[in-house]
Amino acid sequence: MPKNVLVVDDSAMMRKIVIKNVREAGFDATFIEASDGKEGLDKFQAGGIDIVLTDWNMPNMDGVTMVKEIRKLDPEKKVPIVMVTTEGSADKVKEAVLAGANNYLAKPFTPERLREKLGKMFA
Ligand SMILES: [Mg+2]
Repeated sequence: MPKNVLVVDDSAMMRKIVIKNVREAGFDATFIEASDGKEGLDKFQAGGIDIVLTDWNMPNMDGVTMVKEIRKLDPEKKVPIVMVTTEGSADKVKEAVLAGANNYLAKPFTPERLREKLGKMFA
């Protein structure tokens, strides 16, 4: 069964890159796209999402706020969330984890790094 992966990024190009890399890593996935945190939260609420990959800096609702909102709906953290972002400082990583993110992938990423971060989630 393919996993339903919600890819949230305000850059359509970045969403394409993330999707291409997940596919090329050999993971069995179908993709749902959202262009900001608000749309991402709406699509999460619609149900059926197995994994969330999200940017940090976006208009309307940023990634870390969306993560907090998702965790209100999923307090047991059943759905893994990976932040994919240029915000790579230790403080930012800590903030993302406190908000409820499971993992962190710095942009720009290599296919190997992505495979490593997502491997367990697709197992
Ligand atoms: Mg962005």
